[in-house]
Parts: sequence; structure tokens; C-alpha cells
Amino acid sequence: MSTLTGLQCPECGEEFEADVVQTVCESCDSPLFARYDLAQTARALSRERVSARPAGLWRWAELLPVRDPGKRFTLGEGDTPLLPLRRIGERLGLKRLYVKDEGVNPTGTFKARGMAVALSRAIELGTEEAVTPTAGNAGGALANYAARAGIPAHIYMPRDAPASNQAEVLAAGSDLQLVEGTIEDAGREAAAEASSRGWTNFSTFREPYRVEGKKTMGLELADDFGWELPEVVIYPTGGGTGLVGMWKAFEELEELGWVDSRRPRMVSVQSEACAPIVDAMRSGADRVVAAKSNPTRAPGLRVAKPYADRLILRAIRESGGSAVAVSEEQIAASEAELARAEGIFACPEGAATLAGLEKLVQSGEVEPDERVVLFNTGTGLKYLS
Ligand SMILES: *Cc1c(COP(=O)(O)O)cnc(C)c1O
Ligand SMILES: [Zn+2]
Repeated sequence: MSTLTGLQCPECGEEFEADVVQTVCESCDSPLFARYDLAQTARALSRERVSARPAGLWRWAELLPVRDPGKRFTLGEGDTPLLPLRRIGERLGLKRLYVKDEGVNPTGTFKARGMAVALSRAIELGTEEAVTPTAGNAGGALANYAARAGIPAHIYMPRDAPASNQAEVLAAGSDLQLVEGTIEDAGREAAAEASSRGWTNFSTFREPYRVEGKKTMGLELADDFGWELPEVVIYPTGGGTGLVGMWKAFEELEELGWVDSRRPRMVSVQSEACAPIVDAMRSGADRVVAAKSNPTRAPGLRVAKPYADRLILRAIRESGGSAVAVSEEQIAASEAELARAEGIFACPEGAATLAGLEKLVQSGEVEPDERVVLFNTGTGLKYLS
């Protein structure tokens, strides 16, 4: 069912064999992208048939890397609701404001999409033991998918990560390693263990398939909107897999002929506590300079130097989008408004998108009739201490 043909470095174009475990393009120090036979997919499949399949991200199997249907480890991820925000839209003067609520995914965040696909593919390629650094949610997702698949997982998490993340890792029977410092410190420890012990490292963009799972958010958006993509997508950005994955989805959909060339403006929202993408957009750079990394109520956004910086910045610029930083107070106020006005108990990262939207409205960057989608990347329930 998968039409995966190979892996390719988006910087130098070099092609890599897909049916063995791969990491990155060493010469460019870049993530690898999965490539598919889209001409074959367009001939064999229609968007109507994909829409009619049973719910969940595996209905996009032709555009995902897992070849053996028996290796699709699932907990019911994907096909999250697209909800209109009528009260908040009215307050902001926007007629067509929506939230895509990723909080209903297994493990409570969109990280489930990436880990479902990446772990399934890794097991198909022979992985027997998994490791990841995490700010919290990626670790919770990997721990649970590893339990589902029946392999051991090692999770490296900063000691100050939310208690719920530590609890879900332990509950799933994974090995929890609490690290002094930030996710970058956790990343160094996880990488060292991965190479000395032969574990597969699921760190953001260090393997090619988490981004494929996240890509399904973009595929679903097309389907949700009747194959006419919305004008604006606002996404809380940490490592950038969601933003880069959706941009890749739009490219593949256009090549399939399932959407036209009109694509959303991609808006990246970060916390003022750690905003490397906002800084790079402001200075016009195509690489990120490591930002300050202060604690924030939105730990998923605390990535001082994302590995996929070139891909993130390119997607934002090609889309005609922008990047905005919001304060801790604005994030808290947006959390409260989403819950009280709309009944959505959002995670701080997701609520940050509403704070970002306020800024865009104030500066006149969004038209009243445009379809605007906020991504709530997780449920607020995961942040209770
Ligand atoms: C990881 C995470 C993010 C950031 O995701 P990227 O796609 O890697 O930028 C945002 N929100 C939540 C809740 C997260 O767990
Ligand atoms: Zn390369």
C-alpha cells in the first residue's frame, strides 16, 4: 500500500535507500525526507476513496512509509476534530476561525501521530529498542507506542518536565532517565546511548519518519476543508515537525492534483522565553542562531536551536507567512479564553496560537473572511501538577 520510493536530502538532493534504518544527511547535516511514487498514487487512488476509509491516519497509507499493514501499530491516532470558534472569532472580527484539536489524540497530543508512524516503520526495519530525548510529550508518546508494539524504550527528559509526562512513561513500563538541564542536554545523552548500544534514536528530525506522521495533520486539513486549503495556519513551533510536515503534505497533495496551488500562510508562534524562529525571520537569516532558553509554561516550544531550522524558515517564507513571539501572560490569558468561551481545555503551546492570532489581527495581517486554523497541539490535562 505504501508507495515509498526512497529518502532524499532536501539540501543537496542526494538519494538514500529507504529500506534500512537511516538517520540524516551527514554532508549537509540535514534531515532526510521520504519520497513517494505520487504519479502511481494519483492513478490508483482518489481523494474520495481516501475520505471514505475508516477514520485515523492510516487511511493515508499510500503516502506513509510503512509497507506491511501488520506493522501499523495504532492507538487510534489522527482524524481529530476541526471545530469552529464562534465566540472568539466574533470578538476578533473573524468569520471563519477554527481550531484543529489535537488534544483528543492517544497520549493527549499530536506527538502520537509522529511516534505511531516512526515506531511502526522502525520496527518494520528491524528496530528492537527505542530511545528519545523529549520535553515531555514525545516521550509519553514513544513510551506508549513502544508498549503497544512490545519493545523496550528509554526516555530522556529534563527533570522539570510535567509530572504527567513522567507518570505516563513509567506507567507504560519504559525506562525514564531524568536529565539536569534542557531538552538539548537530554538530546546529547540520548544520542550517546543510542550510538553505543545500537538503539534507534527517535529524536526530532534525526530519523525521517516522525515528520511523515505529523504530515497527516496537513492531509486532514485538506479533507476537512473539502480540498480547498485554508488561508492561514497558526502553529506553535518547537522542533518544527508539525509545520514542516504540513508544508510537505501540501506539496504532495498538489502534485497528486488533489488541491490547487493555493496554500495557507504558515504562521509560527513561539514563546518570548525561547524564540529562535522569530529572531531568524526578523533578521532575514536562513539559519537559526541558538536562542536564549528560559523556562516557559509551554515546554514543547523550548527548543533553542531546532535541527530543521532551514526547513522551518523555508516553509514559512515560501508560504508568505510569518513568526510571532507571545508572552507568558498572553499564553495564560488565551488558555483561559479557550476554556471559558469555547470549552476547549488547551495545552499552553496550543493556546499560544490564539495569542499569536491576536497580534496578527492587531497588525492587520488577517482578513475578516479568511479561514484561519489554530492548532491546539495537546490537551491541558497533561499539564496538571
Ligand atoms: C512538541 C510539541 C510542540 C512543538 O512541536 P513541533 O512540531 O516539534 O514544533 C507543540 N505543542 C506540544 C503540545 C508539543 O508537545
Ligand atoms: Zn545533503
